[in-house]
Amino acid sequence: MKRRELLRLSQMVLAGSVLSLGSNLGTHNSYASQKPAVLILGAGLAGLAAAKKLTQAGYSVQVLEARDRIGGRTWTSQTWADAPVDMGASWIHGLDGNPLTTLAQSISADLVTTDSENAWVYGPAGDVLDEAGESQLEEWIERVEKVLRQGQNRDPDQSVHGTVLAALNGSTLSPQEQQWLYFVLTSTIEHQYAGSAEELSTHWYDDGEAYDGSDALFVQGYRTIVEHLAAGLTIRLGEEAKAVRWAGSEVVVSTPQNSYSADKVIVTLPLGVLKANQVTFEPELPESKRRAIQGLGMGVLNKCYLRFPEVFWPETVDWIEQVSPQRGSWTSWVSLVPSLGLPILLGFNAAAYGRALEAQTDREIVDSALQTLTRLFGETVRDPVGYQITRWFADPFARGSYSFNAVGSTPQMRDDLAENLNGKVFFAGEATDRQAFGTAHGAYLSGLRAAQEMMQST
Ligand SMILES: Cc1cc2nc3c(=O)[nH]c(=O)nc-3n(C[C@H](O)[C@H](O)[C@H](O)COP(=O)(O)OP(=O)(O)OC[C@H]3O[C@@H](n4cnc5c(N)ncnc54)[C@H](O)[C@@H]3O)c2cc1C
Repeated sequence: MKRRELLRLSQMVLAGSVLSLGSNLGTHNSYASQKPAVLILGAGLAGLAAAKKLTQAGYSVQVLEARDRIGGRTWTSQTWADAPVDMGASWIHGLDGNPLTTLAQSISADLVTTDSENAWVYGPAGDVLDEAGESQLEEWIERVEKVLRQGQNRDPDQSVHGTVLAALNGSTLSPQEQQWLYFVLTSTIEHQYAGSAEELSTHWYDDGEAYDGSDALFVQGYRTIVEHLAAGLTIRLGEEAKAVRWAGSEVVVSTPQNSYSADKVIVTLPLGVLKANQVTFEPELPESKRRAIQGLGMGVLNKCYLRFPEVFWPETVDWIEQVSPQRGSWTSWVSLVPSLGLPILLGFNAAAYGRALEAQTDREIVDSALQTLTRLFGETVRDPVGYQITRWFADPFARGSYSFNAVGSTPQMRDDLAENLNGKVFFAGEATDRQAFGTAHGAYLSGLRAAQEMMQST
C-alpha cells in the first residue's frame, strides 16, 4: 500500500473511532497487524507531540486525559477576553535552535521577546538599587556562584543551601546580609529550578543544556502551540488513568469509566502524579524507575496575575525584582505592559514559600502581593480590577510545577524514568528529559523521543 493511501485510511479509521468506537481501543482497527494501536496517557506537550508524530506515521492513537482540557502544565486562561494569560509555561526559553521556535514559526505564532536584563531591582528598604546597591548585589551573586562551583567539585553532594551557608559562614551573617543572600538564592536558583535551596543538589541542580537567544512569550498564549499539536488527534477528556496492566500481550488501562486496551502505551504523567502513586502499575514498576520517581524532586512555581486599572510601575521594564524582607516572598514580577500593552503584573512565588502560600485564600494572597507592591510603589498602587492565581502543588493532575535534581538524585535517574518496559510501555514528560527537564521544549522533545523509540521497537 502506498504511504499516502495508508495515511488516508488511517485518518478514516481514526474519524470512525471518534464517532462510533465507544471507548475501547481493544477493537483494533483494520491495519492493526501493520501498526500497533497506541494509548497515550496525558495531553500535555509530551503526550501531544508523541500523538502527533505517531498519528502522522499512520498509527492508531488515542490520548487519555484526566482533565477537561488539554495542555497540562501549559494552560492559557481565557478569563480576560482581551488578555490571554499563561497559568503554566509562558516562555520559549532560548529561541536559537529551540524546536518550539521552529514549531511557532511554522504556524506564524505571534511571539514577543522579554529581556531579563531589562529589570529594576528594589533593595531591602524598598528603593531602586543605586550603584552601590547594584555592586553589592553583583558581589553576592558572584559569591554564591563561586561557592556552588566549588561545591560541584567536592564529594559528597549536599544541598545548595548547605553548600552556600557552610562556605559563607551562614551563622555569622547579619540579618541584612541574609536578606541579600536569600534574594540571590530565590531569584537566581529557586525561581528557575522550583526546588528549595535546601532540597536542590549542589552537584546537579543546574545540569542540562539551555538554548541560546532571547526568551519569548506567545502573544496569544501557549495554547497556540497546544491547539496546533492537538488538531486531528483523538483525545478523550475526563479519562483519568487509574491502573496500567502490562503483563499480557496487550496493555490495559483502566479509568473510572472505561477500560482501554492497546498494543503499546506512552505514559506522560507528571513526576508529581507518579510520586503520589495515583496510578497503579501491574506488574509494579522496576526498582530503578521507582528509585528515580522517589529520588527526583518535584518543585513549585506559582503565578499570581494582578490586573490594574492603570499602570503605576515603570512602563518599559520587563522585570521587577525586590530584595524581600521575608525569604522567598514576591521577589520577582513581570510586567505585561511591554509585551501585551496591558496594565497587568505577574508575581511569582516558588519552592517552599510558593508551596506554603497555596494554603492561603485568594484574598490573602492578593493582599500579600499588594503589600509588597505598596512597599515598592507607595500610594500610587491601585486596587486590582482582577486577579488569577495558580496552585500547582495542590493540582491533582500535576502535584507540582516541574521536576528538579534533588540531593541524592543523579541525572541517570532521568534515563531510568525514560526507560521503556519490554518495548510495551514507554515514558515521556519533562522529567524524563536529562538535558531540558523542567521546560516546555524538554516535554515536547521527550514526546518525540518516546514516539521514535516506540516506532523503532515495532
Ligand atoms: C507555573 C509554571 C511556569 C512554567 N514556565 C515555563 C516556561 O516559561 N517555559 C518553559 O519552557 N517551561 C515552563 N514550565 C514547565 C512546562 O510547563 C512543563 O515542563 C511542561 O508543560 C510539561 O509538559 P508534560 O507534557 O511533560 O506534562 P503535563 O503538561 O503535565 O502533561 C501531563 C498530562 O497528564 C495529565 N494527567 C495527569 N494524571 C493523569 C491520569 N491519571 N490520567 C490521564 N491523564 C493524566 C495531566 O492533566 C496533563 O495534561 C512551567 C511550568 C509551570 C507549572
